[in-house]
Amino acid sequence: MKSHISLILLSTLQCNADCEYCFEDKTSDRLTLDRLGEMIRKVLDYMVEKSLGSLEIYWQGGEAMLLPPSWYEQANDLIRREAEARGKTVVHSLQSNMLAYSSRWNKVIADMFGNSVGTSLDYPNLHRKLLGHEPDTYNQIWARRVSEARAAGIEIQVIAVPNRATLELGAERFYSHFVDELGITDFQVNTPFPGGTGSTAKKALPVDEVAALGRFYTELADVWLARGRDCGVRVGPLDALLQHFGHQPATLPCIWSDNCANSLISIDARGYVAQCDCWVTSYPDYHYGNIFECDSLAKLLQTSPVRKQFNERPIQLIQRECLSCDYLSLCHGGCPVRTYTVHGSLFEKDPYCALYQQMFGHMEQAARKLARQASATPSLAA
Ligand code: SF4
Ligand code: SF4
Ligand code: SF4
Repeated sequence: MKSHISLILLSTLQCNADCEYCFEDKTSDRLTLDRLGEMIRKVLDYMVEKSLGSLEIYWQGGEAMLLPPSWYEQANDLIRREAEARGKTVVHSLQSNMLAYSSRWNKVIADMFGNSVGTSLDYPNLHRKLLGHEPDTYNQIWARRVSEARAAGIEIQVIAVPNRATLELGAERFYSHFVDELGITDFQVNTPFPGGTGSTAKKALPVDEVAALGRFYTELADVWLARGRDCGVRVGPLDALLQHFGHQPATLPCIWSDNCANSLISIDARGYVAQCDCWVTSYPDYHYGNIFECDSLAKLLQTSPVRKQFNERPIQLIQRECLSCDYLSLCHGGCPVRTYTVHGSLFEKDPYCALYQQMFGHMEQAARKLARQASATPSLAA
């Protein structure tokens, strides 16, 4: 383990939306403050045992805003007290669909979440919706809530997942919608995967459209480089790749970490522990255990046969599939959940291998070009 650990904490498994491609098996479970206290003490004791200095908690659901702001205020106090008693640092991030946002959230978002919220919207939106409504209703409520939050000074980061219509529309239109029409200057484009129970929408995800996705991502990179990069627009993971190839410090997404099991776990409202949100909500066979049924998180993780498989994955891929890859030290075989939901096994390389190679090559070239321009322009090189 590194000196930092991330925890995806699902405070409730309820949601007020009904997105067709959702990978979560939703339930009515909600975390109580008593149970949160027990969970956090075990996580912090684990950090003491492993000499880990800091914890980042990513609060998600279901829909995290279905618990009230006062619950998070008390959770914040409780976690601060327990962390201070052990000399540990904890920072919090909030991921929400924003449908339940109102101004009564402003204080806790400022105090606990750095006045920032991560949310999700696709363009065009085919699959994100409220039960019994068309995706347009979701878009309208989302846009209203986001605009209210931004008017209150809250920073909004957006995660978007491309669908087949996104690929047909193209990167230019996609970028213009987020940046020019919605005023979003920080967004991340995640590759789709058919996690959880199968559905028609999941079958329609463009998982096998690697060539079209490659075109989309590289065109998006070019639009961003031409129009957004110098104006402070961030488009993940392309911006992080540019920094990486430009030899700058870069925060790359977990899909390219050396082994996500080294630095991240997820715990849900029932106390189940697994690798991340998709595993914990939808694949009970891949749970590491339950934090409320163990004395020590360290022991739970150490003795979990499932976690052993996650730890073995990178080395098996290096030996079999990725050894000769130029980008091995960057990609490490990619994401276990994308692999599992497409191939039914952990021990294959990420189904987006060819897409990643195209993205890496494109951003490497872009970084080289920028370095050449900088060295040819003394004021830029200084
Ligand atoms: S994708 Fe997120 S917002 Fe949509 S139904 Fe699933 S948990 Fe709710
Ligand atoms: S399984 Fe994939 S999405 Fe989940 S933590 Fe690992 S790399 Fe990230
Ligand atoms: S790009 Fe492909 S071959 Fe290279 S490390 Fe990633 S998954 Fe393996």
